[in-house]
Amino acid sequence: MPDHGYQYIAGGFRTGTAGETHDVINPADGSVVASTDLAGPRDVDVAVAAAKAAHAGWSRATPGERAAALNSLAAAMSERVEDYAQLETAQAGKPIKLTREFDVPGSIDNVSFYAGAARNLEGKAAAEYDGLHTSMLRRESIGVVGSIAPWNYPLQMAIWKVLPAIAAGNTIVLKPAEITPLTSLMLAEDCTRAGIPDGVVNVLTGAGRVVGEALLTHPDVRMTSFTGSTPVGMRVMELASKTVKRVHLELGGKAPFVVFDDADLEAAVQGAVAGSLINSGQDCTAATRAYVQRPLYDAFVAGVADVMRTVRLGDPKDPSTDLGPLVSLRQRDSVAGYVDRARGYGATIVVGGRVPGGELAKGAYYEPTLVTGVAQDAEIVQEELFGPVLVVLPFDTDDEGIALANDTPFGLAASAWTRDVVRSLRASREIQAGCVWINDHIPIVSDMPHGGYKASGFGKDMSQYSFDEYTQVKHVSIDITGDVRKDWHRTIFGDR
Ligand code: NAD
Repeated sequence: MPDHGYQYIAGGFRTGTAGETHDVINPADGSVVASTDLAGPRDVDVAVAAAKAAHAGWSRATPGERAAALNSLAAAMSERVEDYAQLETAQAGKPIKLTREFDVPGSIDNVSFYAGAARNLEGKAAAEYDGLHTSMLRRESIGVVGSIAPWNYPLQMAIWKVLPAIAAGNTIVLKPAEITPLTSLMLAEDCTRAGIPDGVVNVLTGAGRVVGEALLTHPDVRMTSFTGSTPVGMRVMELASKTVKRVHLELGGKAPFVVFDDADLEAAVQGAVAGSLINSGQDCTAATRAYVQRPLYDAFVAGVADVMRTVRLGDPKDPSTDLGPLVSLRQRDSVAGYVDRARGYGATIVVGGRVPGGELAKGAYYEPTLVTGVAQDAEIVQEELFGPVLVVLPFDTDDEGIALANDTPFGLAASAWTRDVVRSLRASREIQAGCVWINDHIPIVSDMPHGGYKASGFGKDMSQYSFDEYTQVKHVSIDITGDVRKDWHRTIFGDR
């Protein structure tokens, strides 16, 4: 990491020109991890110009050359797994076992996946579809991509944006969340170490309103790829419309967890605790609303309460810690506000619902929390609160369970728990979400798409589907008749 200069442009670090600094805070204890300069609109112009200049060469590199560069990137990152894990834990408060076992290896696997995808340009066969022309398809890069990422999985979100874009021959300016920019900057450094040409990957540390909006309105940025909250996503779409940019939106979630009465109760209990508490619940696919068919309801609530009480909240650097702090005091206070208001309108807080005291009081900690006794239209059921909070509600018929699962504006992910094949197929068909797990909740793979339905956005991250989104398809049509006056000219010239 640099001593100063937290803008990575054209292969090197520079100091931002916003004239402001921002302290990256370790949410476990409030200490300063780094004091970063911030980018301003002038830095956006310089970074976009660098990306535009790099596009001509990078887009003409052969798929094999791009794949080789990405394989080198995977190797460069693999040399620094522990550094990535420690820095991610320090800036985001994630437990070290999560960053070591999930965030960093998952990111490197994604890089390797896109090294393969770079050589896999899909399309319809060239042929004479009308007998008069040879049609062929070109799958081309789009140009400069401007990407904006959130703080919950800083490295993974950067990877999900950068890799499909550059594998397809685009160049990119990435703006990570200003509270967690450090591992994205390490990634940019590793791109250079791996031999990816200067200007292909640029990272700007700065505020959403300043750097994000400048990227969204810049005429030389041809595509915007955004991961973040639904309200900001709406603003992104509006601003991108001014220059008709291609838009890719990965937005908020409020994943349902539907337990039918034939489910393996113990598996559902374990899955609900793990699925709701992963990354302290700051996961767009986290289980947030469990709907449990009436015969299992009481046993499920009691089981989840028992398991939740065993979860070890503590120092994220300690390998035995299950749950670290939330990303910031602001986020913790927001989560506490949702639970306090639910308490106010009569909810039962079965477990947790408090800011812990003692040693943990200096960090942004919040206890794992289980809530019952709320109505389907309560804000704690309908809104994304992004914390370690699971709400449980009962249902009677299968129809009701599925209807409740679909009854929020979101549609990112969901799970259904049943041993009945018909019920599982019905749930996978009828739940409106970009991913439906059966008898599990959370696992993702680089090979399969991730993305939302409804207010959770559109466009896919990961997999070949994401690679394809960062390309545009051109139809090339070549006359093979050699005729001066083509047959279709009759419609213009009549029979002359
Ligand atoms: P956020 O929307 O507040 O911010 C996301 C990014 O947008 C940040 O980099 C921020 O600086 C920037 N930004 C803010 N205002 C902007 C503006 N006016 N113009 C341009 N950029 C702006 O989200 P967050 O709090 O950082 O992250 C949490 C959210 O991200 C949750 O809603 C979560 O569900 C979502 N998320 C979704 C996915 C997914 O795949 N669908 C994955 C991870 C996180």
